[in-house]
Amino acid sequence: MIPKDHPRYRSLIARERLARCAREGIVALEGLAAHGRGEAFDYLIGERTSESAALAARTAAAMLLSARHPVISVNGNTAALAADEIAALQKASGADVEVNLFHRTEERIRLITRLLEEHGVRVLSGTAERLVPLAHDRALSLREGIGDADVVLVPLEDGDRCAALRAMGKTVITIDLNPLSRTARTATLTIVDELTRAVPAITVACASLSPGEGERLIASLDNIYLLRAAIDEMRERLSHALE
Ligand code: ATP
Repeated sequence: MIPKDHPRYRSLIARERLARCAREGIVALEGLAAHGRGEAFDYLIGERTSESAALAARTAAAMLLSARHPVISVNGNTAALAADEIAALQKASGADVEVNLFHRTEERIRLITRLLEEHGVRVLSGTAERLVPLAHDRALSLREGIGDADVVLVPLEDGDRCAALRAMGKTVITIDLNPLSRTARTATLTIVDELTRAVPAITVACASLSPGEGERLIASLDNIYLLRAAIDEMRERLSHALE
């Protein structure tokens, strides 16, 4: 039992959840390593939502709400860490949810779908086809899901798939603590924040955008500015780290 007043409570809870989900076959062992990379960047950003990440989350809400067909692409880490949060975002944004895995097996798809459904997510089902231009099982997508989407939210994605979705003409929103990753630099919009802070921030924004705000946010989107702001935030924190 992790004491609630432990200074690293949230991080320890996340690790415990990921380890349990790895034992159950929901999270791939490689996903644990990816989480570690994220944690390191979270340390650098101060384990809190920066102003630029909050702006990115509001912009993401605007993009999801104005999309013709928004889809949230969920992998094992996302399901393990944020099933409740994805359910709330689906309700607020009207987005479809599709499971897409780097380390894909039908058993993992089934386990992740079940976990999401237990938390109230409506998960698209059907026969996946090789729709995304990738020589890998991540190419497998649903024609009526990611195949048809104009806006795709892909939290914790890798660079190749993000680039392939962009090449298909899709608007790609990602959540990635590493502003230097290929994903962060390839996406249309990158929220440099931890998944379990970023998803609720998008959900809250969906319900609180004022008239005209969404159009203004989309018109002024500058992803390079957002990435620079995240790097500046980290640099600033580092330069005062030992004071
Ligand atoms: P790329 O291919 O885009 O250069 P990568 O090889 O690091 O990146 P992955 O190994 O798939 O891609 O890692 C996924 C990314 O998700 C990492 O950049 C990591 O920083 C980030 N990440 C991991 N856990 C979280 C989390 N809980 N919240 C936000 N970001 C996270």
